[in-house]
Amino acid sequence: MPLTVRHLPTCPAAPDPVAVQGASPVLDNTHLAAHSFGPPAQNTGDAVNTGRQAASLLSNLRDADHAKSIARQLLANPTRPEQSWDSKDGSTLFSFGSHDAILFASAKAASTTACVSVQRGCLLRQAAQACRFCSTGRHVAFEGSLDGSEIAHQAIVAMEHRNKPSGEAAFSQKKMILYSGMGDSGLNPVGVVDSMRIIQQAYSDDELLFFMTTMGTPPTLLSRLQRHVVNAYEDGGLFNGTAVFLQVSLHGATDSKRAFVIPMARKHPIDGVLTSALAFRDGLLPYVGPQARSTKYREMPMVTLNYLMLGAMGAVFDGNAHNEDLMALIKLMHRFGPSNFIINLCSYNPDARDRGVAFGPVSEYTFAHWQQTLEHEGIAVKRFKSRGTDIRGGCGQLVGRSV
Ligand code: SF4
Repeated sequence: MPLTVRHLPTCPAAPDPVAVQGASPVLDNTHLAAHSFGPPAQNTGDAVNTGRQAASLLSNLRDADHAKSIARQLLANPTRPEQSWDSKDGSTLFSFGSHDAILFASAKAASTTACVSVQRGCLLRQAAQACRFCSTGRHVAFEGSLDGSEIAHQAIVAMEHRNKPSGEAAFSQKKMILYSGMGDSGLNPVGVVDSMRIIQQAYSDDELLFFMTTMGTPPTLLSRLQRHVVNAYEDGGLFNGTAVFLQVSLHGATDSKRAFVIPMARKHPIDGVLTSALAFRDGLLPYVGPQARSTKYREMPMVTLNYLMLGAMGAVFDGNAHNEDLMALIKLMHRFGPSNFIINLCSYNPDARDRGVAFGPVSEYTFAHWQQTLEHEGIAVKRFKSRGTDIRGGCGQLVGRSV
């Protein structure tokens, strides 16, 4: 489909690609830790007006004034991305060269959401362990992790975007930051949490909801992420009551199905992931529980499980949306406590380049059946509609400058 490209003024040069040395063919926890962070960036000027320039300040972000100063400079001069595209559904996709962000507003929830990337490409591609449904992992070379200011920069550019056709809602005081673009939050905990510190300072009067998305494997990713979030609450980088939600990519209710969709999950059973996810949530409750500013946080379970409904892939995979999968999911939820989770049923957005190795479609009837059955079982569920699928901004479609 032809895309209408609008070139925005004052395009900065794309950041230099970062070569990753010594990529390992197998990613275990040590390798993940070693490769999760981008290189030290140069501070090339007095004014911080791009994410790259701000990077050298990151070691001081525990000082709230420092985060505030970066936030102010990003707000004063949010350097425009290389390109942007407007979707028919009202969302806007921004390409920052190597990574993408997408903005959408919900009039119903009176909120604005920015979905941001945390890496240039995805680390999992390094070891041929990319999730099978994801264009980023399948088609984009990994160039490194983004630092906190680069991630915050995407959110600020999106939130400050002045050309939204849907106007008013784009300036809602309720702002959701979804870490669901390129890369996995668990693979870049420092960048993700540093970006929260900056965004918290940038929009200190607004209601902020942060949603970190991760496959949660290995489960130690979650404890590492939790440690960084708790530190931010403890040192004032995040205000008490600011909501931090966890979204785990489940995509299969049995270990074998999940491992097919997320090869990285092969050695990490679902039970361990869900146990770690609940421990993550419990660890944050003292900071955001009853005093949470967000009613959503107080009233809803905090751990979201994303479940991508997939049809068959040739003869190698028969899909994950059969009745037996539904029963396995219900059993799993009852074992871990249905009130602890909310299931997001998501649609698959195929990439034309994956012809022959793409998943098949799932009918609307099947979606409705799953939704009704889960509700009947007392399990919170919602249908998650991807935004910007006509501009390649939908879930699993982000490819940065290679669009
Ligand atoms: S879904 Fe996320 S973790 Fe999986 S390959 Fe894509 S970007 Fe990487």
